[in-house]
Amino acid sequence: MDISLKGKRALITGASSGLGEAISKELASSGVNIGLNYHSHPEDADRVSGELEKTGAEVIEFRADVSDSKQAFDMVDFFVKKWGGIDILVNNAGIDGKHALSWEADLSEWEKVVKINLFGPFYCAREALKHMVAQKKGVILNITSVHETIPWSGYGSYTASKAGLSMLSKTMAQEAGSSGVRVLCLAPGAIKTPINQNVWSNPENLNDLVSKIPFGRMGEPEEVARVAAFLVSDAASYITGCTVFVDGAMKDYANFIHGG
Ligand code: NAD
Repeated sequence: MDISLKGKRALITGASSGLGEAISKELASSGVNIGLNYHSHPEDADRVSGELEKTGAEVIEFRADVSDSKQAFDMVDFFVKKWGGIDILVNNAGIDGKHALSWEADLSEWEKVVKINLFGPFYCAREALKHMVAQKKGVILNITSVHETIPWSGYGSYTASKAGLSMLSKTMAQEAGSSGVRVLCLAPGAIKTPINQNVWSNPENLNDLVSKIPFGRMGEPEEVARVAAFLVSDAASYITGCTVFVDGAMKDYANFIHGG
């Protein structure tokens, strides 16, 4: 199947590591021009851009904190002006935050997670949708998590932010659908990236995690990236307002009471 992404213009947030890096690579190798957002560690952004450029893709790095509305707006504005429009926004940047039961949670830590995981995607989508609705085409792919449906003890800010992002996406899909713009979510299960290195680098923690995944193993970033490429392509032209899970059936396993 030809997923026809050549020449599209995509902004990917949090693209200097993990899933953002893998999605950027998959899209770049399909001929997409990449706006590579990163927040910290410019050396990682440089490393990823160097690899993407080998595919012949045009790559522009942009440092911005997506939880800062001005920085997010300026970033989208920059790419729209530079490219003369925007076809794809992948809201991937996110953090899981520090473990804390709700009644022990530090307010600034709690708010930080929600600001990055929910406000950030909203800020970027708000600006991108203005252009996508006007140009009557575009796709926004929001990276949520199996924890948009699975409660996760000790990570209330994470679950709330991902569930909120899921419902926001459905609402934006309703709003923008008649303009031909799609908004949807991809919910990864447990994928081996820096975000959960403390789990997969420790055999005991890894065994515990894998026991929660019916498919019996963690996923690889490329397994998520391939689905992301399909979902932002015209091959997925009738998929909007929903979440696609890439999780080895993890969301059907509810035993997260001890924190995962
Ligand atoms: P990761 O830590 O490698 O990637 C997260 C990226 O977000 C990093 O590059 C980080 O610098 C960036 N980021 C953090 N705060 C930012 C900010 N304020 N502004 C801009 N960028 C910021 O981990 P990952 O696993 O690749 O995570 C990517 C997304 O996937 C996250 O939204 C995460 O919640 C989601 N996710 C991951 C898994 C998994 O198992 N890896 C599972 C479910 C959901």
